Amino acid sequence: MKNWAGNLEYSSARVERPESVAELAQIVERAARVKALGSRHSFNRVGDTDGVHVLLDALPQHIALNADRNTVRVSGGVSYGALCRTLEQSGVAIHNLASLPHISVAGAVQTGTHGSGVDNPSLAGAVQSIDLVRPSGETVTLSREDGDEFLASVVGLGALGIVTGLELAVQPSFEMRQRVLEDLPWERALAAFPEIMSSAYSVSLFTNYAGDTISQVWLKALGSEPPLTDLFGATAALRPRHPLPDMSAENCTIQLDEPGQWLDRLPHFRHEFTPSKGEELQSEFILPLEHAPDALQAVRSLANKLAPLLFVSEIRTGAADEFWLSPFYKQQSVALHFTWKPLQAEVEALLPELEDLLRPFGARPHWGKLFSPGGHDWETLYPRFAGFRSLASSHDPEGKFRNALLDSILGVPAASGR
Ligand SMILES: Cc1cc2nc3c(=O)[nH]c(=O)nc-3n(C[C@H](O)[C@H](O)[C@H](O)COP(=O)(O)OP(=O)(O)OC[C@H]3O[C@@H](n4cnc5c(N)ncnc54)[C@H](O)[C@@H]3O)c2cc1C
Repeated sequence: MKNWAGNLEYSSARVERPESVAELAQIVERAARVKALGSRHSFNRVGDTDGVHVLLDALPQHIALNADRNTVRVSGGVSYGALCRTLEQSGVAIHNLASLPHISVAGAVQTGTHGSGVDNPSLAGAVQSIDLVRPSGETVTLSREDGDEFLASVVGLGALGIVTGLELAVQPSFEMRQRVLEDLPWERALAAFPEIMSSAYSVSLFTNYAGDTISQVWLKALGSEPPLTDLFGATAALRPRHPLPDMSAENCTIQLDEPGQWLDRLPHFRHEFTPSKGEELQSEFILPLEHAPDALQAVRSLANKLAPLLFVSEIRTGAADEFWLSPFYKQQSVALHFTWKPLQAEVEALLPELEDLLRPFGARPHWGKLFSPGGHDWETLYPRFAGFRSLASSHDPEGKFRNALLDSILGVPAASGR
């Protein structure tokens, strides 16, 4: 079994598709090593195991609204695409979405997946409670009232349990418009960065860091926000655009300010098409918003080395949250995303240089994308890292939910005998 990008073959000896949570709990209890996978959109081995992989798509797929609590309860295997369509039929929405709707809710939340918007928390920000299967097969539900255990488990890298359900906050459905502006001068982008990134509900910049301008600015505005036809020298595109200049905009959500519902404007890519390029790799580094201009200047200095490997880079923002291993933990942030050509050896050879440039700004790598595992001081990056590690060891002393990547980040649990 491979991941979505096809850059890695998982190492599992067996794949199981349990049809009930009780069956899943039994599989987990009996396995020496086990991990859940969602839609397999991660680019690294965070979800790998040499034991049993469980896929949750055969579990009953519930999506149940609770109008009194303004929440929806959703099963672990459900994708955002399926969830959003059901929510919209009931006139409700979630606050934000990633660039694509194809990913599973549980898998996305476990890695801290995010969209954009200076005031928009990552997708984990909607989580009110979470149902987990522990290594013993025990099932638990943790909610905001559970404090630390909850805050550690939501963005949990699959290390604290298998997520069988989540309760997410919902709000009334809302209308949006999307417009692409072109050729934002770098000089003005750096001088007015927070203002530009606050100019609509969700703003993304697309660039390859070469030249004097940022090629595209994607503005996703609420119905109530005024339409913008120019922004610090960038001007409105006259026809729909794909972030990659040689790709058809047919794959992209509707632009040119045509009003539509949140679920059809927040993702860049339409559910019925291949998102992004398809044959690609990705990395992303998330750092405090106030460092954005300096960090972007530093990355620009690497433009010549980036160019041969890069399809495009996307710059987004996100609000601070409270989840211990969230890349947005207690920091309003900028996220520098890199869509690489499928040249993994070359990308991995360049990553340490990029990471060295971004380290002084406190950059935290996206958990589901390519980064150098040995190149980060996790304790410094994540103030609650030691707490997470000790919770993971106490819940999973034998390392049932671990793999080589998680061991290299969290350390090998003492009782695992490894
Ligand atoms: C084309 C493309 C576009 C992307 N765009 C964005 C974007 O806009 N923003 C962004 O932040 N990221 C983005 N990503 C990255 C993606 O959102 C993350 O990799 C995310 O984790 C994918 O979700 P998944 O369901 O595929 O998870 P998987 O890759 O299947 O799993 C990821 C991790 O979650 C764990 N996991 C999965 N399901 C469960 C479960 N039920 N219980 C416990 N652990 C579980 C796995 O063990 C693994 O550790 C993109 C990826 C691609 C391929």
